[in-house]
Parts: sequence; structure tokens; C-alpha cells
Amino acid sequence: MDGFLLGYDGFDPGTEGLREALTSTGNGYLCARGAAEWEDADGVHYPGTYAHGGYNRETTILGGQPVLNEDLVNLPNWLVLMLSIEGDDVIRLAGIELVSYRHELDIRNVTLIRQLRFLDGRGRETRLRSRRFVSMADVHHAGIEWTLVPENWSGRVEVISALDGRVSNRGVARYRQLEGRHLDPVSPRTFGPEVIALKAETRQSNLYISQATRTRVFRDGQQLPATRTLYQMEDYIQQVLAFDVHQGVPTRVEKMVSFYTSRDPAVSDTLVRAARSAARHDEFAASFGRHSAAWDELWRVCDVRVSGNDQVQLLLRVHIAHVLQVCSRHTADLDAGLPARGLNGEAYRGHVFWDEIYALPFFNFRLPEVTRGLLMYRYRRMGEARAAAREAGWRGAMFPWQSGSEGIEETQRVHLNPMSGRWEPDLSRNQRHVNAAIFYNVWRFVQTANDLEFLDRYGAEMMLEIARFWASIAHFNPERERYEIHGVMGPDEFHEKYPDAPGAGLRNNAYTNVMVAWLCDTVGKLPSLLPASSTEGLRARLGIGDEELALWQDMSRRMFVPFHGDGIISQFEGYDELEELDWDAYRAKYGNIQRLDRILRAEGDDPDRYKITKQADVVMLFYLFSDEELREIFGRLGYDYRPDTAARNVAYYDRRTSHGSTLSFVTHAGVLAALDPESSWDRFLVALRSDVDDIQGGTTKEGIHMGVMAGTLDVLQRYYAGTHIRDEVLYFDPRLPGELAGLSFPMQFRETPVLVTLSGDRLTLAVHPEGVSRPIRAGVLGDVRELCPGDQAVFELIRA
Ligand code: BGC
Repeated sequence: MDGFLLGYDGFDPGTEGLREALTSTGNGYLCARGAAEWEDADGVHYPGTYAHGGYNRETTILGGQPVLNEDLVNLPNWLVLMLSIEGDDVIRLAGIELVSYRHELDIRNVTLIRQLRFLDGRGRETRLRSRRFVSMADVHHAGIEWTLVPENWSGRVEVISALDGRVSNRGVARYRQLEGRHLDPVSPRTFGPEVIALKAETRQSNLYISQATRTRVFRDGQQLPATRTLYQMEDYIQQVLAFDVHQGVPTRVEKMVSFYTSRDPAVSDTLVRAARSAARHDEFAASFGRHSAAWDELWRVCDVRVSGNDQVQLLLRVHIAHVLQVCSRHTADLDAGLPARGLNGEAYRGHVFWDEIYALPFFNFRLPEVTRGLLMYRYRRMGEARAAAREAGWRGAMFPWQSGSEGIEETQRVHLNPMSGRWEPDLSRNQRHVNAAIFYNVWRFVQTANDLEFLDRYGAEMMLEIARFWASIAHFNPERERYEIHGVMGPDEFHEKYPDAPGAGLRNNAYTNVMVAWLCDTVGKLPSLLPASSTEGLRARLGIGDEELALWQDMSRRMFVPFHGDGIISQFEGYDELEELDWDAYRAKYGNIQRLDRILRAEGDDPDRYKITKQADVVMLFYLFSDEELREIFGRLGYDYRPDTAARNVAYYDRRTSHGSTLSFVTHAGVLAALDPESSWDRFLVALRSDVDDIQGGTTKEGIHMGVMAGTLDVLQRYYAGTHIRDEVLYFDPRLPGELAGLSFPMQFRETPVLVTLSGDRLTLAVHPEGVSRPIRAGVLGDVRELCPGDQAVFELIRA
């Protein structure tokens, strides 16, 4: 098996949507689904192209109520290439007899390939190979190449090459009642005989999007003089190229495309810019060569190799390729957040949640500029976060649960339960824990990349304003002599409030409170990392007085954490008083019960009543922090943290978790690595297969799960290799699963590239001999060495 190929034989209308999402082609600027070039959106096929930041707001009147949503817009369809043989209707998959069909994603250079051999209604047999890439080298470029071979005929064909702006957002069935029109036409245009171009504008956000394309035909290395016919409307432009083809002789069609939006730098009119760029575009082979070289470079930095399991190797690379298609070096220069469902579909409307907490560790150690860019997305939205805190009666910065263009709260207030067909209230915006995640992400980034300039200019301000927010939402309970947080919810979305309570939110979500205790302590470390003038400047600018610093310190020691009384951390206060669910009965009745919330609500019941959890919540603490860190945090709080605290809590919640978010499998795989390696491996495999096998039965076609894909890579790095940083030292505490013979990956710590290799009982760290890098301190517990460029250190691993 080639470790770089995701392939499908035969066409299957039922899974085409899934394959489209999984064979998308993207470069961190834009991404296009792997829909066949000749198909329209029709329930089986869904051509979709999305670019970072391409949002638009529309209002739907639903039962007399205005519902406002911001969506990542499906951009004009640039893929269109259609074939008509001797004047017949264009070829569509539904109208031909397939002799053979293969659809693949070449992961090494993220190229979509379709190869088909088909018989049309007149018995003509034709071979068609399509290759497509979105350039990782030239961020505004893409290319499609067709190779056509008539097997038993010769004749005249027409190839229709179009840019289609008549698209809308219709990719997610449950959103179809909502407004999906986001584009207004601006104009089509031609530039010389070969280039056609189209400009559209988003209806509310006034973003211009222009695409241009140049289509050429080649045989035997020579360009053919095809006849060109133009047709244009305000939101559509096509060129029909007519030429003769000969039996057994390959003819190639190249459609080279360029994209610009008004968010791009160095652009005046996007239409002219795109057209000029398309006219200058290299031919396919040269452009593809550069694209391929850019991917080679990325793989040198980002590949993760495992030995002993080819399937796992392939799936890891599928994940790496997808993560990089959504966030690459190009993303670092954009104003882009991490869309939870990638740029591959319309689920969650392209919004940014907390999922980056799972994804950033991968970037921190490989492409830290990507993390920095994604954190800057947050920083630029501090103004809205401050306003949101103020409007809610708090201080500091309160980032929204769902974020889009401006950083205001984009979480919908009602959502459709597909099981019942009813619109239900959505209180999930109370997941204020996203603010702890942003703090955590800034801190881990700085620890890994040592980017003190970022900390100084942006990171520290975010950390301080987030700490201030938490200090204001918390209150001191004199009876307990502890700080409490009420009215929020944790990552577990099955619990939005207490059963029958009129108000939203819960009291003292343990995950949130522990994160707050940690961050209130961590914020105190800032002065040691910043120039004194910056610390003073920040304090003066933000008006942080001594009493505020003292309050944070106090909170780090006196946040309240609820316990059941037997060492089990209560997910929130009162969780232990909820009813147990009869899991077996529900499993027997429904089979897949991952989305118990929808099931219970459709039954007229209420998930808030039960001891059930959608996804890791308390367990998340054991994922984000090492045992040593947790001992410190709990110790500072004056709570017991016993050697079996992790094991007991993980076991308790594991029994009550439906893993309704696949993120939960990542978390459990991580925390179980030390506790129960076999079980960890099982969860890891589920997470690894979750998108490729679409284990939620239909969600992946609406977009890949970025947090899960990147999270599996994080599990390898953080748990199976045991990578963690403490006191500026890079530590490894490997727990290589028995199923893997070895694990190896390049990483970068404080700008120094290191190759990590694990096999058997041996860990090897090799610091790259060339380039600018400084000595680092790395090793295993009890054996830390200073490593200089060119050094190779071998550590024998002894497990007690
Ligand atoms: C999960 C959240 C996640 C969101 C976006 C939800 O199903 O519960 O934790 O942030 O999906 O991926």
C-alpha cells in the first residue's frame, strides 16, 4: 500500500459527498471539494469552494422570527469542465455506463485524480483522466488537467469551461430552511481570446471575489487551435472549445485558474488582478511542479512516520494533508481562525470554536508561524471580546463561543433537531471555557516557540484580559471561602442548565474552574518573560492594579472544585444528583447513541436530567495537563490529588460519555495512554477513522473535523511520544503502543529542528546540523542534556 494515497474504486452516489470532502484540494488560503468537474449540486454532488474569512450574514424569517446567521460562503464554482461528444448532451456520471472508475487523492502533493473509462449512449468508449490541484506554491493559483482518449471512435468534441457564480450554500440539509444566497453578481469579462473571468460580491459583507481561467488544448506537446465560443451572463461565463480527437490518441485540456478577493493584499480590482494572473499562469506541468515541490517541503517538516501499521500510517498522512490544506504557511499571513470543519463543507457555518486547542500543538512544533497567525485572529477581535464582556456586565475580554468575521457571538439561538424536525433553543454560547482555551493556546505557543516578541506585543494582553474576565465572572462565596463561577457550561454540550431551571448555565463546571485556577497562576509568570517596561506599560494601559494581581493569585489558590465526595470530580455542582441513564436500553433501541441529546429531546425528555456526557469535560483536564502539573494545581487549591485521581475519574466519566463529539475519542485516547494502553489504542483508531469512515453517519460530507484530525497527531506527539515542556526543557515520556514498532517525526523546539525517533526502548533525538539553531535542553525525566546543532542523543527508556 502506498502510504500517500486515498483511493476509491467504482462510483457510489451514496458516498460521493463524503469522498468529495475527503478528496478536497486546498492550500491554506482556499479549499475546493473533490466534486467532479462536470457535475452540479444535486443531492449527490456538491461542488463547494471556501476561502478563509469569506463570511456573509443573512437573515431568514422563520415562523415570523428573524434568524440571523453568518456563513462561510460557497464561492463561485471554478471547477466546471464538461464534455460533449459530437454535439450530444454533456457527459454526466448518471448518464453513462462506467467500464472503470477510480477517484483518488494523492496525498504527497494533494492532487485529486479521477480516472474513468465509459460508454456513452452511442456505444462510444472514452477514457478520461482528470487531475486537479490548488497550488501550495502560488497561493492564488489552481489547475485542472484532463486527458481524453477516444477508445473506439474519432470525432469532434466540445469542452465547456466555465466559472459559475449561480451558487448558494446548500451543503447541509438541516440548514436548508435558512437563507443560503450569499452572492450578488458583479460582472463577467473576457481578457483576450483565452481568458474568461467572473466577479461576484457577497451580499452583506461586500467582499469581492474574482476568478479567472485560461483553458487550452494540447496534443503531442503542441497547443491545438481550438475554436472558442463565448457565452456570458452576469453571474456565469463559459467558453466552449471545439476540436477533433482521434481514436487512441490522448488530447489534453488544461484549465488554469486564479483567485483573488478584496481581502487580499496588493490588489486593486480583483477582477483585473485575477485575469492578469490567469493570463500569466504557467502551463499545468510547470505550475504543478512548483506545487509539488512546496508539498515536499511541507512533508519534510510535518510528516509523522510509524512502523508496524500501514493503515495507521496512511490515515495519519490523510490527517496531516487535510490539516495543512486548511492551515498552511499561507494561512499565517491571513486574518484567519481555525474553522472547526475545515474549508471542506458548510457545517457549523465555517465558524471558529475552541477546537484549535487540539490543533495548535501540531503547529507549535512544526509551523509556529501558523499558530501565531491563528492567535492573531483572536487578538484582532479583542475589541469585540471586550465589548461582549462589558455588555454582559463583566470586565476584560470575553471571546465568543462561535466566532466568524468580526469576533462577535455567532452561536445560533435555535437549532434544528434532525431527529424530531423541531427547532430547539441552543444555549451553547455559555461555553465560556473557550476563553480559557485561548489563554492556554497562547501560553503553550510561547513555551514551545519561545516567541517572546509575540507575547510582548499581543499574547500578554490577551492573557491579562482573559484573566480579568474570569476574575469578574467569578464571585467569592464566603461560606465556602472559595471563588465560584455560575451560569456557564463546560465542553459537554448535553448539559446546558439544570433540569427544569428557568436560567441557563450551571454552577461550577470543574473543567472551567480548574482552568481558571491554572490561568490565574500562570498570568503571574508574565513579568519574568517580558521586559520591565512592557509589564509596566501593559499594567498602565489596562489599568491593572496591585489588588487585581492579588485577586488572581488568590483565585489560583481558592477556586472551588466540586467533588462527589469519593474523589470523583463532579463535572459541575450537582452532577452526582442527576439520574443514571439506562445506557443498555438506549443502545438496544437506537444503536448509535452518540447524539443522546437529540434522541432524548425527540422523545420529549431532557438530557439535562441525566448523568450523561457528550464529550470529555472533566477528562479534558487530564488531557491538557501532565500529572505533575495537575498535582501542583490541585495542591495549590488545597484539594487532594492522589496517584489514582486520573484513573478513577477517567473510568467514571468514560462509562457516562457517549462521545457525541468525535473530539472526545481524541481526549480519551490521550488520557488512557498511560492508564490503559489497549483502550487508548482503540479510541485512537476510532478517532483516526472517524472522518474517513464517517462514523457519525453523514457529518463528514459537511466538512472534515479539524480538531479530531489534528488531535490524533497531538495524541501521538503528546502521549505516545510523551512530549511536554517544563522549565524550558523539552521532555519525552514515551508510551509507544504495542501495535506500533516505531514512531518518528521532525519537530522544532524554540526554533531548533529536532528529529525524534522512538523504537523499542530507545529514544533518539537528532538536532539538525545546519541552519540557524540554538542549543536546546531536552531528554527524559532524570536525563536532560544540552543538544547543539548536529548532536544526536540516545536515551534508553526504562519503564518502572
Ligand atoms: C463539540 C464542540 C466543538 C464543535 C465544533 C461540537 O460538536 O461539542 O466541542 O467545538 O463541535 O467542532
